[in-house]
Amino acid sequence: STVPIYRGRFAPSPTGPLHFGSLVSALASYLDAKQQQGSWVIRIEDVDGTRCNARFAEQIIDTLSSYELHSDETIRVQSLHHHLYEQQLSVLKKQRIVFPCNCTRQSLAKYNGSHPNKCQSNIEKPHSWRLQTSPAIYEYKDSIQGHLVFSDDLKSNCPVLKRKDGFFSYQLAVVVDDHLQNISHLVRGADLIETTAQQLHLYHLFGWTAPSVCHIPLITNNHGDKISKQNHAKPIKNKHLPTLLRALHYLKIDLNSPTSITEALALAIEAWDPNKLQGIKNLPLEEQDLHF
Ligand code: GLU
Repeated sequence: STVPIYRGRFAPSPTGPLHFGSLVSALASYLDAKQQQGSWVIRIEDVDGTRCNARFAEQIIDTLSSYELHSDETIRVQSLHHHLYEQQLSVLKKQRIVFPCNCTRQSLAKYNGSHPNKCQSNIEKPHSWRLQTSPAIYEYKDSIQGHLVFSDDLKSNCPVLKRKDGFFSYQLAVVVDDHLQNISHLVRGADLIETTAQQLHLYHLFGWTAPSVCHIPLITNNHGDKISKQNHAKPIKNKHLPTLLRALHYLKIDLNSPTSITEALALAIEAWDPNKLQGIKNLPLEEQDLHF
């Protein structure tokens, strides 16, 4: 019998420099891969041309490498692969499982911002492409969060796969690339828990085997919000052992005074135990870390 090959990834969107929360996610995916002798790759998720830029991508890669988190393969950049996303979208068009949509935020207000399973669309007018969703897709097994079941109001939330402005959505691009890169395990932040159900549905529609998925706790600020570029999370310092040790602390790894980043990573690979995070959806920053 063949031993499955572990392939993990970290897939940042370059909408700003790397912040503390993304360092925690990068570490979790890296440690999980390396503990299982797997490979780990970085992928730049810059499909949203209105929010991403190459300077942030460079800065993120630079920060990751200052923490010795190096991609085992050439870094894939999504904006160079539009044709592949178009190709997969046309597979769904043939199956008639996507539909054109001219709805606007205002027109969806009466549905509380979610989308009905169909709309009065006119393909001649500027439109996005939405995936028709079904009630069946709203549960899955997460190896850290357990069996997840989502509420009814998501059932009609047909996700946009290609936007009116021509950009592909994260939802489509992430599935196509994880598949084409043979990613076997996704380890990422709990803010993506709900999008996972729709991604698993896309795997099903394409007839692809889905990776195993788990979500680590989201690091939140003192208002209980995800620390993110939107709420002005600061870039982290490069090559700063104390920052690395604090990030590991949120993954329940407390090391005994390692003297270098190299040593800390080696010890963390051994110490990593996702069971310690079982069922934890978010972790507020501790007092001493509020500056992150
Ligand atoms: N690019 C996504 C983000 O930065 C994460 C993708 C993923 O891990 O699936 O939020």
